Amino acid sequence: LLMFAPLIVYYFIMSCDQYQCSLIDPLIDLLTGNKHLSDIWNKTPMLTYRAAGIYTLWVAFQVGLYVFIPDFCHKFLPGYVGGIQEGAVTPAGVVNKYEINGLQAWIITHVLWFANAYYFHCFSPTIIFDNWIPLLWCANILGYAVSTFAMIKGYFFPTNAEDCKFTGNFFYDYMMGIEFNPRIGKWFDFKLFFNGRPGIVAWTLINLSYAAKQQELYGQVTNSMILVNVLQGIYVLDFFWNEAWYLKTIDICHDHFGWYLGWGDCVWLPYLYTLQGLYLVYHPVQLGTANAVGILLLGLIGYYIFRMTNHQKDLFRRTNGNCKIWGKKPEYIECSYMSGDGTKYHSKLMTSGFWGWARHFNYTGDLMGSLAYCLTCGFDHILPYFYIVYMTILLTHRCIRDEHRCFSKYGKDWKRYTAAVSYRLVPGIF
Ligand code: NDP
Repeated sequence: LLMFAPLIVYYFIMSCDQYQCSLIDPLIDLLTGNKHLSDIWNKTPMLTYRAAGIYTLWVAFQVGLYVFIPDFCHKFLPGYVGGIQEGAVTPAGVVNKYEINGLQAWIITHVLWFANAYYFHCFSPTIIFDNWIPLLWCANILGYAVSTFAMIKGYFFPTNAEDCKFTGNFFYDYMMGIEFNPRIGKWFDFKLFFNGRPGIVAWTLINLSYAAKQQELYGQVTNSMILVNVLQGIYVLDFFWNEAWYLKTIDICHDHFGWYLGWGDCVWLPYLYTLQGLYLVYHPVQLGTANAVGILLLGLIGYYIFRMTNHQKDLFRRTNGNCKIWGKKPEYIECSYMSGDGTKYHSKLMTSGFWGWARHFNYTGDLMGSLAYCLTCGFDHILPYFYIVYMTILLTHRCIRDEHRCFSKYGKDWKRYTAAVSYRLVPGIF
């Protein structure tokens, strides 16, 4: 992964830049001797001062929004949970506090983006597309720098030594991380910052930049591009609206911070999660009304399942089971586990609502939404379908990884749960 993931990203972006998003043509050119690797490389835009400036400003701006502006959204948005929130108990028994202000950062960034696009005109809204490959080099530099820094920090000045994990394998430690929750100062949390911003705030801006490029090239924005912007926009906004809930997800609760999260958030996410929009710049697909409506419905139903499943678990855990799921008191399995310091804790695994249908129905909803993004691009090329293939592998692997962890945590109680809810993703199938 350490070697191939950066090459995969380069290959995808290069094939759009040089081969109209065909994944096969570069291979044919290379295999037939029509082109050499050096020809492709020589045609690749290099790092520029302009891209370095844009990227530095971007990251510095997001750091500023994260560190210096306490959340004000929770004061006037009913139902939004922001401001200072607590994360889950770490294996060493620590409960970290987080400043949840991602929604605010997203809103400020987008207000400025639209203000520039419609009034100030300081830069073109196509700026991201126009510098896409030079920015890739910047994102890689940051991704590797932050992962390396996290590794060194884990060895020499960890935030919490008891929550560090050394496997003895240098590459594994570099990739999966040593420290659980590396921080600088009291509030700068690496996991929350790099997971949430700059990659996810950028996601919607990247799509907007692609839409602007379509407008510039073809004089119109296709309905497929609008669908990608809307469906992925809902997903991103959902992430920020529920940022406090995100503190309870596997990324924050169980993963250590290394290259997997650091480089992944800086490079993999912004470059590969936005492939549909990039593809649509090169191939402006105009969908028939029935297809567009079908894709929209698939995306919205997927989103609904994803959100409701996550919401049901969150509600259940927050109220310790004293809530209603689909109008009834939830059913659950009582379980217990030990933390690293030997303290015994009690927990509950719900078997009602979507959690009674399958053990990870939230992933199923996520996959339906992901498929909808890909379908907007039609069937001429395989490149936009990378996302659904990747998400299926990621979430299936994540499901197995999570279940392995839950089994180690809960032992025979987990077995009782899997006996009660026997399918992982799709009831009756898997
Ligand atoms: P979950 O939100 O499903 O959390 C899994 C954890 O929930 C388990 O480790 C266990 O933790 C607890 N749990 C499991 N079963 C139950 C139950 N029946 N009742 C109560 N608690 C239970 O997983 P993720 O954190 O991976 O995913 C969160 C969301 O993020 C998902 O919707 C996923 O699709 C999405 N996601 C998206 C990604 C992307 O790249 N777009 C990447 C990863 C995730 P405990 O130890 O507390 O018991």
